Amino acid sequence: MKTEKPEPRTADAAKRPPRRAKEVLIKGIPVAPGVAIGAIFDTTEPPDEAPRRTIEASLVEAEKQRLANAVAASKKQVGKLKTRLGVLPEEAQEELEPLLDAYALMLGDSRLIRGARKRIENELLAAECAVQDEAEAIADIILSQRDDDKAGLKRRAGEVREIARRLTRNLTQNPFRSFKDVPEGAILVAEELTPADAALLDPARIAGVATEEGGADGHTAIMLRALGIPAVLGAPGLTEAARRGDPAVLDGAAGTIALHPTTITLGHAKDQIAAYARERQRLGKLRRLPAITTDGEEVELLANMEIPAELPLIAQAGAQGIGLLRSEFLFMNRDDLPDEDAQFAAYGPIVEAMNGDPVTIRVLDWGGEKDMEALAQGVETHHVSANPALGLRGVRMLLKRPELLEAQFAAILRVAARAPEGAIRVMLPMVTVPEEVKAARDIYDRVARRLRRRGEKVPEKLPELGAMIETPGAALAADAIALEADFFAIGTNDLAMYTLAVDRGDAEVAHLYDPLHPAVLRLVQFSTEAALRLRMPVSICGEMAGNARLVPLLLGLGIRSLSMNAGAIPRVKQAVRALDIGDCARFARRVMEQSDPARIRELVDGFALGVTERG
Ligand code: PEP
Ligand code: MG
Repeated sequence: MKTEKPEPRTADAAKRPPRRAKEVLIKGIPVAPGVAIGAIFDTTEPPDEAPRRTIEASLVEAEKQRLANAVAASKKQVGKLKTRLGVLPEEAQEELEPLLDAYALMLGDSRLIRGARKRIENELLAAECAVQDEAEAIADIILSQRDDDKAGLKRRAGEVREIARRLTRNLTQNPFRSFKDVPEGAILVAEELTPADAALLDPARIAGVATEEGGADGHTAIMLRALGIPAVLGAPGLTEAARRGDPAVLDGAAGTIALHPTTITLGHAKDQIAAYARERQRLGKLRRLPAITTDGEEVELLANMEIPAELPLIAQAGAQGIGLLRSEFLFMNRDDLPDEDAQFAAYGPIVEAMNGDPVTIRVLDWGGEKDMEALAQGVETHHVSANPALGLRGVRMLLKRPELLEAQFAAILRVAARAPEGAIRVMLPMVTVPEEVKAARDIYDRVARRLRRRGEKVPEKLPELGAMIETPGAALAADAIALEADFFAIGTNDLAMYTLAVDRGDAEVAHLYDPLHPAVLRLVQFSTEAALRLRMPVSICGEMAGNARLVPLLLGLGIRSLSMNAGAIPRVKQAVRALDIGDCARFARRVMEQSDPARIRELVDGFALGVTERG
């Protein structure tokens, strides 16, 4: 076991409380399987010092408002940390509670905040410089006091500097984070990672990811799974406990991060890494085998794609196509909008790489947690919406800003003209009423006519235009929507969120998020049957589709097309190949008679176990 504390890497780190060299186990939500051994790279560390900056006298009020906003954000963060204390070991609670109380006090009408405000007014300093100067002045006064308890003085000075760091971080936050400085093989730690941040991660460099915030089915989690980076999200106490450079073991399946791991923990982690590699090799052998049940029913296994970096993984997994191309990646980490040509240039190589296999492109699903800088200015209601997930999201926003939809449709139609017939499909997110599909189709047809007039090649028969079924409203109106749409893709991630009124990305309510809740399953069944009655293609592209244990139930409900993160395909294929459709249908009937989610889970686990034992 490591007993010496590692050298602090920065002057600031030296001011922090001493590290514990004892193993500390932090628990969070398991999000992406795999084990990582590496040093912590804590992105919550702000720059050592914000650059010195002064402001014009006319900007004093605005600068004071910036400070007020940062104080409010910091208060919120500290408050949130406090509500999570209960889940920590008692020892950690005792240590952290008074600290968080001290932070909360300093964020009130304290000497630090009053002093910083005065420095903005009198010295015309930028807020972050004012905060840092005031914190240093207060720390100096504390340290110069005559007191025998030198350690106590140091601790109090450290607390002032720590809260100044939090304020500085909130004041200097770069809208587009860069992860270029992360050392190879590090475990990235952050308070929160947005889907746009996750899109910047290089899986070849980053061993694992752990964050305080986030839930198992938010978009950040989906991205991390897609990239195959072992990850634990929603881990309370993490950023307080972890320091840059700390050795750690992250277990993405168990949802744990062990800081300063013992030799036993390390040895176990190495064994698990070797076991994962063997399992991958075994499943890799399934790549060329068809996804066909024991009684000869074919099942289509497609990949979801969030960023082009996943293309090699999709090919390796043996996907039969892309069932959900989330086009949001094109709009992330930039402050202007990609025009038709830029989008055409982005879709082309993806479609080409798939070599004629089907690609379903979903038009932009902006809104809710998928906040994107480039769009934030243009959609005024975003800023006033108290419930962004219920606001201008998905197709609603696109119909309000038709120029966005027109550019995207035009780029897709031009790509489709160069692909084999039927290879491209287009899909609308967040549909709730048939009218939305109708209105989008009018625009689709208009864009095709315009392109033809412009002399562009457009497929004679336009690619199919489908609707995602991801709200209870859409599921219950599926028969009406089916009359307007060419196909359905059931998005169980949002369907579960909206049905159960549980934010899919919120760690606080993650325990209530359950796609096996009978209400969700009934909506899946209802919309599947509405499609099948019209012989209309229907697939599932939410995270449920990638869970091998749920395959018997989904096949039993009539689903024959599943789209999932590429890494899940081999295991799902293995499940399909061990199943008989008649058994699945009988099993689904039994499940659908249940009203208790726990009982449903028992049945699902029991059936999966039976198949494993039989197989
Ligand atoms: C879904 O909601 O299930 C879905 C597939 O869409 P997204 O996860 O991108 O919201
Ligand atoms: Mg969705």
